[in-house]
Amino acid sequence: MTISKELFKEKFMDMLTEKYALSVEEASPYDLYTTLATLIRATYAKDWGITRRAYNTTHEKQVYYFSIEFLPGRMMKSNLLNMGWLDTVEASLKDLGIDLEDILEIEPDMALGNGGLGRLASCFMDSIASEGLPGNGNGIRYKYGLFKQKFIDGYQVELPNEWLSRGNTWEVRRDSKAVTVKFNGHAYLKELEDGSLVPIHENPTVVRAIPYDTGMVGYQNGTVNTLRLWDAEIPLEEEINYRSIQQRREIEDLTSVLYPDDSNEAGRRLRLMQEYFFVSAGTQSIIRHFKANGYNLNNIDEYVAIHINDTHPAMCVPEFMRILVDEEQMNWERAWALTIKVMSYTNHTILAEALEKWPVEMLRSVQPRIYQIIEEIDRRFVEQMTGTIDWGIIERTRIISNGIVHMAHLAIIGSHSTNGVAKLHSDLLKNVVLHDFYRLYPSRFNNKTNGIAERRWMQLANPTLSHLLDETIGTSWRFEASDLYLLMNYKDDKKVLHALAKAKQVNKTRLAKFIEKETGVIVNDHAIFDVQIKRLHAYKRQLLNLLHIIKLYLDLKEDPKKKIQPRVFIFGAKAAPSYHYAKAIIKVINELANLINNDESIKDQLKIVFLENYSVSLAEKIIPAADVSEQISLASKEASGTSNMKLMLNGAITLATLDGANIEIRDAVGDDNIVIFGLTEAEVYAYYEQANYRAFEYYESSVELRKVIDALIDGTIPNSSQEGIEIYDSLLKYNDEFFVLRDFADYVAAQEKVAHLYSDQEKWLKMSLINIANAGRFSADDTVKKYAEDIWRIKPNKTPQQVKDETHDSYSI
Ligand SMILES: *Cc1c(COP(=O)(O)O)cnc(C)c1O
Repeated sequence: MTISKELFKEKFMDMLTEKYALSVEEASPYDLYTTLATLIRATYAKDWGITRRAYNTTHEKQVYYFSIEFLPGRMMKSNLLNMGWLDTVEASLKDLGIDLEDILEIEPDMALGNGGLGRLASCFMDSIASEGLPGNGNGIRYKYGLFKQKFIDGYQVELPNEWLSRGNTWEVRRDSKAVTVKFNGHAYLKELEDGSLVPIHENPTVVRAIPYDTGMVGYQNGTVNTLRLWDAEIPLEEEINYRSIQQRREIEDLTSVLYPDDSNEAGRRLRLMQEYFFVSAGTQSIIRHFKANGYNLNNIDEYVAIHINDTHPAMCVPEFMRILVDEEQMNWERAWALTIKVMSYTNHTILAEALEKWPVEMLRSVQPRIYQIIEEIDRRFVEQMTGTIDWGIIERTRIISNGIVHMAHLAIIGSHSTNGVAKLHSDLLKNVVLHDFYRLYPSRFNNKTNGIAERRWMQLANPTLSHLLDETIGTSWRFEASDLYLLMNYKDDKKVLHALAKAKQVNKTRLAKFIEKETGVIVNDHAIFDVQIKRLHAYKRQLLNLLHIIKLYLDLKEDPKKKIQPRVFIFGAKAAPSYHYAKAIIKVINELANLINNDESIKDQLKIVFLENYSVSLAEKIIPAADVSEQISLASKEASGTSNMKLMLNGAITLATLDGANIEIRDAVGDDNIVIFGLTEAEVYAYYEQANYRAFEYYESSVELRKVIDALIDGTIPNSSQEGIEIYDSLLKYNDEFFVLRDFADYVAAQEKVAHLYSDQEKWLKMSLINIANAGRFSADDTVKKYAEDIWRIKPNKTPQQVKDETHDSYSI
């Protein structure tokens, strides 16, 4: 799909007239944005239809990726790149006096996710389409997405993210594909005259689920897949009838916000309803589609794979059973065998508090029929296992125990594949966290290390480096990320290393300007840009980073003549609205930033920048400019991490614990090209086993550490005494759950090593080059290919080009 400048300009101006009756000169940037978006969509729409028809006619198996979060960020530039239009459009608009960058900035982020989980789902959507694989996303169209973060007096304040307020050009509402979803009420089995039992769901609340489809454009291959997001509405026939305001509100709330505050009962129930809502709507629409196309449900597993991304969509298992057994009158055994073959599940965390559990009473009340089915699955599981294994194992693995429904157990028992997201994580699942299940179903367990869409994180985010790569190793890396390895031929080439330094500098200067515009802080763009960007969570240990900065500051204050390698510490992180401790850390970082950034004596040596509202589009600005990538979670806690991969790809040096995919990054680049510190996973588990960690001993025995910790409470950092005490207590009174004090000295030494390495620029640049060259193995294209081969058993479909050749259809402009 290519287009000439002339043709593009003609079409663009026609569209502007059609939509707004305006000329380019008269149009506002917003008018220009929607005009371009409309033209883009109208263009890929042809391929979208062809792709769908091709899937229907070739009867290839398709995967449906169910995820409660998708975090695509902005779509316009990605669509232009994948259509092969980006350069032409940029040049054409320039001819018309328009800067494409200004237009791109108008688009609100599609932020229907919290962080890594949702971003992974979106990287996968891009890669599935780009590999020409038949795969679609299924999720929720949250009206307000993730909150918008502001800092007021250093505190996080959450504002609604009204991303839909001006409409959304990318989506297509499909009224004809609506389905109904039932909640509440009462379920029982009614005996018919012939003695058979039929399930009855009495007095349900009926909600109309409307799909909004967004095209997922593959990279220059003509494939356009579908991301289907569901909105909840009041059923048409009831609109004017008996729904009370209260009931209407309940339905509207269903798709209103992502992760409603779950610190109270009402919020949790709403969350559970959301889960069933998108699971039921998605599963119904899949089965309806395949029935309508004449498929036999008895071998539906040959045509459909359903992926359960983390446990939130685990009710796909009982919902699939409900449809087959209740609606299609299939016998239980047949339906169960099919369900297991269709379903697969990815585990994303070993943190106990994140393993989803629901009280029986709540699940039964939200969807009584689904609860009955889960009960029956559980009953049969126990029956099947009794006598073959210890009762203790059955107790630990069954789905319902002590009045609690374990969603991970449901997902594992009801699927043929359970995977972790990095080697260490998958090993921990097999050997520790899900060990009992591993003994029951060893062949179901596998690893799929996460990956990133290199198109977004290099081609879109870092055009400067992308051009340098083109000039140095050719353009094949744009199609095949492993070709980045060609860069290794230049690891000792001074010219290339110098060009690499120049590219990084361009990006740093650009980010420095952005920082000044956003925060008013002027940073030294020749300092080390030391970046930690991710959700704010105790296990990710932003606190360790903070303590190290306090140490640097105290050192400089103690010895004003001291010279350090100048640093800019850059943070981006949102805290969950109800996560008090995480918010305290944000406040202290902001107050320390205020103190240091305004301390004349520190000069250019140290700056802290905490950018508001961390999001995909902000990540795209920060990552190309990063020198150091902070991946400092407590070993065993970060399942994989993906910002580590994005930063590596952009030439940052990883400063890391041996956690998640950091281990695989080290394996890829070698010990000399990464800086590793801290406890290993085995050491952490040894502490747990022996219960012999005493945080206070580290505080007592190190003068340096004591000074740093005391600075939290002795007034050194202004306006944060409450938060300082809270953090101080978490470390000393509550024994430092994440071993921050244990790893502090190691971390300081590692940071000194970073400063030392940076002072030898040639060496640093070579390290940087080796990181870029080896980042190809973390391409999500390869990750989804492995899912496709090992788990989903799907093959790349014929490209629309092939279909077109066969049908002589004409679709390209
Ligand atoms: C990649 C990404 C994440 C995940 O970061 P981790 O460091 O892997 O937790 C979170 N949020 C956004 C916006 C991202 O782009």
